[in-house]
Amino acid sequence: MAQILDGRKYADLALDEAAAKVEALKKKGVTPGLAVILVGDDPASQTYVRSKGKACDRVGIYSRTLILAEDTTQAELEKLIMELNRDTQIDGILLQLPLPPHLDEQHALSCIAPEKDVDGFHALNAGRLMLSLEGVQPCTPKGILYMLRQGGIPIDGAHAVVVGRSNIVGKPTALLLLKENATVTLCHSHTPDLKEQTRQADILVAAVGKPQLITADMVKPGAAVIDVGINRVNGRLVGDVDFAGVSAVAGAISPVPGGVGLMTVAMLMDNVVSLAAARA
Ligand code: NDP
Repeated sequence: MAQILDGRKYADLALDEAAAKVEALKKKGVTPGLAVILVGDDPASQTYVRSKGKACDRVGIYSRTLILAEDTTQAELEKLIMELNRDTQIDGILLQLPLPPHLDEQHALSCIAPEKDVDGFHALNAGRLMLSLEGVQPCTPKGILYMLRQGGIPIDGAHAVVVGRSNIVGKPTALLLLKENATVTLCHSHTPDLKEQTRQADILVAAVGKPQLITADMVKPGAAVIDVGINRVNGRLVGDVDFAGVSAVAGAISPVPGGVGLMTVAMLMDNVVSLAAARA
């Protein structure tokens, strides 16, 4: 039976570390602040925003949630972002995605000041990641790396296969694994024989959004399998990996729920603290 990569345990550890850093900053007169912008009333986004607020409370970060109506215009949204860029109480600005379809996500993200870009989605921070320079790293990929380290999974020299090439998960995860000296294969919907690729993986990351995409026959015995997917099936939350089948073959596996999602929130707190420390 595979080792469970326990997101709850590792996220607790990361949150405790963030809380200690917040305490040290407060002694210097700095209270880290996070602003979360939510446009519309998507129930999943509301849940994510609530969990981010709770995490801020737990570690002592000042948080402000700004809820905008579904029919908010691009100009109104960007005006708010500009105000937050100037707000001295705010170190990090998070624009909860996805935005309603009439809004231009990339343009709105580009309005966030790079030094307040807590998600690391601004082109400048994405470029810094590409160049292996210091900078804000996107929370989910950073959480995956934290989880692998805490789970004692060797990265240096491992063959990592990442399924999914989005700008927020797949691509930055591949770059972080590469930075840690893994040999990385990045798969997507045009990959002709996915199983042939995934069976090579010492570390397999599934970030697609399709339940049961990764089955036991696609996994090399002993591999570490990280399930990023969040899917709702008959009201139940499941990942992209057939957990029951794959955990009989893998050496380590992250569950859904209780896996990467919790790491994402914990790394968000870490990023707010880092931005506040940079300001201090
Ligand atoms: P996107 O929809 O942006 O990207 C999905 C990727 O999967 C694309 O690159 C797509 O390929 C690829 N893909 C689709 N079908 C296949 C297939 N059959 N075989 C191989 N690749 C395929 O999703 P995100 O990256 O934003 O999110 C992925 C999943 O992770 C979702 O379930 C999301 O909810 C979850 N998520 C979880 C987070 C967490 O904290 N746990 C945080 C963020 C996301 P192509 O590029 O060719 O279209």
